[in-house]
Amino acid sequence: MLSSKQISGVAFGQDCDTYAWFSQRAWVEIDLAALSHNVQQLVGLLSPRTQLMAVVKADAYGHGAVTVAKTALESGASWLGVATVPEGIQLREGGINAPILILGATHTPEQIHAIAHWKLQPTLCSPKQALVFSDTLEAIQYSSPLPVHIKLDTGMSRLGTNWQEAGEFVKLVQGLPHLAVASIYSHLATADSPDTRIMQEQHKRFSEAIAQIKAMGIEPPCLHLANSAATLTDSALHYDIVRVGLAVYGLYPSPHLRNKINLRPVLQVKARVTQVKTIAGGTGVSYGHQFIAPHELRLAVVGIGYADGVPRHLSNKMQVLIRGQRIPQIGTITMDQLMVDVSAIPDIQEGEVVTLLGEQDQEKISADDWAEKLNTISWEILCGFKHRLPRVAML
Ligand SMILES: *Cc1c(COP(=O)(O)O)cnc(C)c1O
Repeated sequence: MLSSKQISGVAFGQDCDTYAWFSQRAWVEIDLAALSHNVQQLVGLLSPRTQLMAVVKADAYGHGAVTVAKTALESGASWLGVATVPEGIQLREGGINAPILILGATHTPEQIHAIAHWKLQPTLCSPKQALVFSDTLEAIQYSSPLPVHIKLDTGMSRLGTNWQEAGEFVKLVQGLPHLAVASIYSHLATADSPDTRIMQEQHKRFSEAIAQIKAMGIEPPCLHLANSAATLTDSALHYDIVRVGLAVYGLYPSPHLRNKINLRPVLQVKARVTQVKTIAGGTGVSYGHQFIAPHELRLAVVGIGYADGVPRHLSNKMQVLIRGQRIPQIGTITMDQLMVDVSAIPDIQEGEVVTLLGEQDQEKISADDWAEKLNTISWEILCGFKHRLPRVAML
């Protein structure tokens, strides 16, 4: 019966053993076969020139960074992307040797020392930051050149040097001791939109910046531009590396990109029924009595709440799956528990498994469904599940 293995990557070693999982009231299941399938589908889109970077920032979008990174690398990815230095260290401590790009900005001596020590690869966003890196590495007599990645702003207006100044910036970094330019990259602001005009303008600016760098006699070693949406949209955006997050986790950045490849959601959220009771018509349910039973009904309490990452704004708006049926949630979602109307399944038992996100039989509830109800994006839904929910890897 125990066909599952506990995931190792619950933030910073907060592991649960198998017994702990079975005694849990709620958990997140990670389907490693789906993850591997998604990575293979993505690799299938790429020419042999292009490598896949699996973006595993934010604990792999809530999926557990170390286990996801290992599976992605085994399935065809060759780079990893993280947002912060501690995220990179967590992967190294997990035994991962693949190249790791830190997508966020780093400045402090402590960050730079850790980058050098753990062989992480920083993003350089400005001449000032490049000088700080060079000086800090000089002060510790760092011996080998540190691979650094030059970030250009081509229209996202987030990190990076303006594309018009690309040539000068790259020349400066090339001239600094201890630093070696490993790649030049930029990030797209509107790649998930069916209207590609802004994306094409960013692409044009990126090409102009590269031409400028080449005109200075510098041959860029490696170029990258595409996130999930751009990877699915146009192979002209693939360059040498694609940086893919969302699609690795089995979600489409936009409905219009669904026909490109077949992706399978990796994450499911489950909890157990902790109590069942019958309430009379007119009875109020949960804080504020925001739900009043219109007639006698069978109520089940489920052991998961907003402190686990089920958004309170979904109160009275969401459904769950029990025995393959869609069951309405009722009353305000509380910190650790929520209630559902199980009148359709009167013989429901305490301990039965409830699927909040995922599939049961023919029914399916996706992160996109929640995102739509909450007027947000699936990225935010995935990142919202808290570490109180153990991540369980299903092999
Ligand atoms: C997060 C991130 C990505 C991945 O984006 P997805 O849309 O999830 O594929 C790629 N590049 C950068 C710079 C990022 O910050």
